[in-house]
Amino acid sequence: MRVEVAVPHGELGLSALVPAAQRLTDSVVERALAVERKQGRPLSCKAGCGACCRQLVPVSAPEAFLLAERIVSLPEPAQSELLGRFDGAVDALGRAGLVERLDALSGAAASTDMAALARDYFALGLACPVLVEESCSLHPVRPISCRDYCVTSPAEHCRRPSLGLIRKVPTPAILSEPLARATARLVGGPPVLVPLATAMRWVDEHAELALRTFPARTLFHALLLELGVPPTALDER
Ligand code: SF4
Ligand code: SF4
Repeated sequence: MRVEVAVPHGELGLSALVPAAQRLTDSVVERALAVERKQGRPLSCKAGCGACCRQLVPVSAPEAFLLAERIVSLPEPAQSELLGRFDGAVDALGRAGLVERLDALSGAAASTDMAALARDYFALGLACPVLVEESCSLHPVRPISCRDYCVTSPAEHCRRPSLGLIRKVPTPAILSEPLARATARLVGGPPVLVPLATAMRWVDEHAELALRTFPARTLFHALLLELGVPPTALDER
């Protein structure tokens, strides 16, 4: 697959990596959907169908920063309303006793029982703060995990994932993980994935990292290495 990305000169923040990862994800998903269609399995997903938006959605730091940038660029009162929904989600998760377990996800993913956490999270029925009238209000910048999650099973199965009847369109990899590893490569520490519902709180707590910049080529090299692409693929023009 060939995806062209213009890498500007100068310094960029981590969020600058996300559009390239989004485009790559969209290309991979589109190819996977074409295979499904050919085999008589059309996509079930459509606007206004949001049961899946009650799932635990992990996002990498660059994605969280990009979402925060988009949210603070919204006009009022949309910006305050959306930030208020993020605050409400953190409160609801706190009342359900899930915040500590979710924080463990961003600190030590390997030791977290993800399956149990995802099950308990979905059982809460908490809508993603970005969901408005069962549609994604930030659809163009939705996280990689959301872009990758497409199903060909009937939509009603998405309300009962525990039944195991959901047929997700198979895709080779979710790029939020390479983005998390590229971030770790650039700033040190373990790769971090943050639950979308608590992502704005996490961004507040990591404002310094949100503002940090890197030479653009260093930034994109880190992602290419995590994708297994030789850095020489970054042509000099
Ligand atoms: S994953 Fe399920 S709930 Fe989400 S849009 Fe697709 S069919 Fe609807
Ligand atoms: S970001 Fe959008 S697509 Fe993803 S869970 Fe939230 S509302 Fe759904």
